[in-house]
Amino acid sequence: MRLLRSTDLALRVLMRLAVEGDASPTTRGVAEDMDVPYTHTAKVVAELQHMGLVDARRGRGGGLSLSDRGRTASVGAVVRAFEGDGDVVECEGANPCPLNSACRLRGALRRAQEAFYASLDPLTVGDMVTDPTGPLLLQIGRAP
Ligand code: SF4
Repeated sequence: MRLLRSTDLALRVLMRLAVEGDASPTTRGVAEDMDVPYTHTAKVVAELQHMGLVDARRGRGGGLSLSDRGRTASVGAVVRAFEGDGDVVECEGANPCPLNSACRLRGALRRAQEAFYASLDPLTVGDMVTDPTGPLLLQIGRAP
């Protein structure tokens, strides 16, 4: 199973903000640190704001910070939110699979997908930035 790029980026943004302490980096700064396009990062940040996981203050001295909800957010919940509830394989659509109406594989894949999410559910964003990841995140973008 491969995650959407936006799902991985959302988790990276949350992890980055989780180690920031009192600092409030800008979206552009986070994008540069993570070496990803600004526009993609801005879309993901907007969605994280909408979910109540990230706070953004505008203007001079403004920037991004992790909300309390963001710090304790379940990794599984974030992944589910960004991935949506689609199947891992497209059984329907413009050219539906002929096995669609009675396929055991489809059910097995659904259960496997749910097991994947369930394994991420107990993990929080805060859990993801304990050693050695947190110290490394702090170094990124601050090298001389
Ligand atoms: S074989 Fe089953 S799982 Fe695969 S596309 Fe067809 S209906 Fe879906």
